Amino acid sequence: MTDFNKYNPYPGRFSIRCPRCGGEATFDFPFELLNEWSEELESWRVDTTVEILRWGGWFVVAKHPDLFPWKEPSGGYRRSDQGVCYCQNCSTRFEHLLEWPSDAYFYCEVKGKLLWAWSREHVKVLKSFIQSKNRKIEDYPGYGLFLHHIPKHFMLAKNRDLVVKKLEKLLTL
Ligand SMILES: [Zn+2]
Repeated sequence: MTDFNKYNPYPGRFSIRCPRCGGEATFDFPFELLNEWSEELESWRVDTTVEILRWGGWFVVAKHPDLFPWKEPSGGYRRSDQGVCYCQNCSTRFEHLLEWPSDAYFYCEVKGKLLWAWSREHVKVLKSFIQSKNRKIEDYPGYGLFLHHIPKHFMLAKNRDLVVKKLEKLLTL
């Protein structure tokens, strides 16, 4: 899963290993760019911690305006790996430069290859998917992109039991 940048877009928010305490923390990109038809816009509007600005045809949701105020980019907008880590264990929120997959909280090794998931929910879905007989991606709405890019190694019948066992262990974290 090393080529995920090209094929597997990041979700807006996901779990990482807290660089301060090693516990499960959340990583958040500072901005969400939405068009006016986006259904997500309404749910952001009720969140009083964010700022919503206009930029050209876009609505920009600045999720952490104190740490990352929105600045209009001179060219097009490109998401960087800079974001915010917040951790309930150490009750902090701080800037963090994402390094994936080394920052992953949910990861395991299966016969020499690294398997990771964005969040606990993703681990559950992945386990259910690997265990299922027919492995139909359309049975997991919202997880299609993630499941679609699981490397073959983890899908092999001979690795199935081991993968499931490792994922079960991740769920106990
Ligand atoms: Zn922490």
